[in-house]
Amino acid sequence: MKVLKFGGTSVGSAERMKDVAKLIVGERNIVVLSAMSGTTNSLVEISEYLYKKNPDGASEIINKLAIKYYEIVNQFFSTSEYKQRAKELVAHHFDYIRTFTKDLFTLFEERVVLAQGELISTGLMHLYLNELGVNAVLLPALDYMRTDKNAEPDPAYIKEKLNILLDEYKDAELYITQGYICRNAYGEIDNLQRGGSDYTASLIGAAIHAEEIQIWTDIDGMHNNDPRYVEETAPVRHLHFEEAAELAYFGAKILHPTCILPAKLNNIPVRLLNTMQPDALGTLVSNKIEKGKIKAVAAKDNITAIKIKSGRMLLATGFLRKVFEIFENYQTPIDMVTTSEVGVSCTIDNRKRLDEIVDDLKKFGTVTVDNDMVIICVVGDMDWENLGFGASIVNALKDIPVRMISYGGSNYNVSLLVKSSDKQKALRALSAYLFNKK
Ligand code: ADP
Ligand code: ASP
Ligand code: MG
Repeated sequence: MKVLKFGGTSVGSAERMKDVAKLIVGERNIVVLSAMSGTTNSLVEISEYLYKKNPDGASEIINKLAIKYYEIVNQFFSTSEYKQRAKELVAHHFDYIRTFTKDLFTLFEERVVLAQGELISTGLMHLYLNELGVNAVLLPALDYMRTDKNAEPDPAYIKEKLNILLDEYKDAELYITQGYICRNAYGEIDNLQRGGSDYTASLIGAAIHAEEIQIWTDIDGMHNNDPRYVEETAPVRHLHFEEAAELAYFGAKILHPTCILPAKLNNIPVRLLNTMQPDALGTLVSNKIEKGKIKAVAAKDNITAIKIKSGRMLLATGFLRKVFEIFENYQTPIDMVTTSEVGVSCTIDNRKRLDEIVDDLKKFGTVTVDNDMVIICVVGDMDWENLGFGASIVNALKDIPVRMISYGGSNYNVSLLVKSSDKQKALRALSAYLFNKK
């Protein structure tokens, strides 16, 4: 059995949903759907109005969104029976969202509101397949997808509950389920963070030992650079799990940062495919390494660099431990680290506890902070014995000030820290130098 995940654009209109239906019918797979594109953003906006105690502002967006869905229903279904059933489904969810405009609004209610997008898209697809006469079964993610007390997915629970459901509906021709949404350790409705439907797909893949996890989106696989910033990008046909994980973590939006890990741990290939061009080759992510190749570049925004300089670091044991412990105390993960004999620089992407961190670090030395930085991550076979790889990367960026370089941390990645204002220039320079050399 395979797991096929379709993102927001892939289910973004009645026409697109029909195309997805054509792709999924005929094999007994598990199909994970995101909310239709724009819906989760609208639900976030509705929540913002409700937090600000502006129910009228929220209602305006709710009504607009509801109208959009009624139009979709008319285009999507052909029989009056199914049009009626779909309208009832849409009405049910919007009536529910409206109940939140009347009372206290907290994080708890927000998560319930955010969950409605995936509940609607899967509900509509399920009805459509039934209208076509396909015995599709809806697996409610809220019945098996769960996080633990550390807000991490609970693989044992997911495996047990999902397999019970699959056993119960053995005769199904295919299964539809919601991406992104889950319950937390307290049984409350929660989610796997924005873009988390990819994560749902790989958690399901791991739970059922899927033959393959397919992430269907609006582009022909992972490109060698970010197509939103660089014109001449090209698809990468093969990536190692580690390479894909680095790219996803360091900003390649096509994959949710954590979605590769469950696939890697269970050695399940991940294929990135294009819903608009189903025959295109896409990208295959597996445990195969292609030697001697630089594969792709990605960028992670909103990075802060912190430097601690200290005469006392010289020959001191335990200095780095003390520095890192401060970040740990404030539950702030570090991305990049570079050291010298007199100091250490590291980067964080979560500035929430920055003031406290800097205050504590001052015990150990002089602290400097650089905001508005970007990590540029170059991924491929970075084995240190590959001659000239480091040189080409540095050479490509010869006209751009580079604040930090981290090489040798893994066999797959070189990271460089530059100013946000230099991001596009850096990405373009790397593409020109590494991939499109004339
Ligand atoms: P979905 O809604 O299907 O989850 P996303 O918008 O999350 O889709 O991801 C697909 C988008 O990721 C592409 O349209 C593209 O703009 C962006 N993207 C960023 N970096 C890359 C990359 N290296 N390769 C392919 N797409 C990328
Ligand atoms: N609908 C959610 C979002 O927009 C999850 C996803 O699409 O992966 O973030
Ligand atoms: Mg996505």
